[in-house]
Amino acid sequence: MKREGLIMRVIEPHIHMIARTTADYERMALMHTVACCEPAFWAGYDRTSAQAFHDYFTHLTEFEPKRAAQYLIRHYAWICLNPKEADNLELAREVLAFIPEFLAKPNVLGVGEIGLNKNTRNELTVFEWQVELALKYDQLIWIHTPHLNDKLKGTRMMLDSLRRWPGLKPERVCFDHSEEHTLPLIRDAGYWAAMTIYPVTKNSAPRVVDCLERFGGDHLLVDASGDWGPSDPATLHNAIFEMRRRGHADDTVEAIFYDNPCRFLGQCPKFAFKPRT
Ligand SMILES: [Zn+2]
Repeated sequence: MKREGLIMRVIEPHIHMIARTTADYERMALMHTVACCEPAFWAGYDRTSAQAFHDYFTHLTEFEPKRAAQYLIRHYAWICLNPKEADNLELAREVLAFIPEFLAKPNVLGVGEIGLNKNTRNELTVFEWQVELALKYDQLIWIHTPHLNDKLKGTRMMLDSLRRWPGLKPERVCFDHSEEHTLPLIRDAGYWAAMTIYPVTKNSAPRVVDCLERFGGDHLLVDASGDWGPSDPATLHNAIFEMRRRGHADDTVEAIFYDNPCRFLGQCPKFAFKPRT
């Protein structure tokens, strides 16, 4: 069924609102974004103590939900020690000790975005500690795959690593920042994959729609990655427009940008939105 001109709901699965102004919440609201999810990540500088992470997690779980609510957007967070700061094992141990207190907060969906940055041994160790933590507390997992030349190697390292936990359910894990060469590997292993759109570098909106057409939209999320670098929440809506311009039915578009996030994120009972069917 093709429903021309439908106003569809949109969920932004990955955006770092701490790096964005309130004007971006307003823009997203005007483009019918009803929920956004903020994985814990780098702050633009390396934090110098565990307390700085505690303060950041407090920001993600107290301040951002209130700021988003002014624009009728539900704000959700993922909590973890991010891979860019995961090379210091002593600091990692201190941070991991208080992560469970934040996993219990009402807007936290799981452990993320954990993963690899430069594919180092310590990064992999901290990744595995946090997988263990997620399983212990029955949490969803959001994974950051490294950018550019490290992406394929890092994705393979994490897929291999996750085989250590035979009880881990792949449908409860999403690998973000996937591209043409990693998307099939991730989904063939039963995991969700997400593609991140950037306005200048890496995945563009047309490239993401090409992938959707080539590989299909099952178990696929699309996100805009607003962060500290060149990025724009509207790139998500550029991809929506690109799909419609190419003649995809509105039903198909909403299945990707609303139903799919509801299916993955809705595995956490705190997530309030349900797929249309
Ligand atoms: Zn991110």
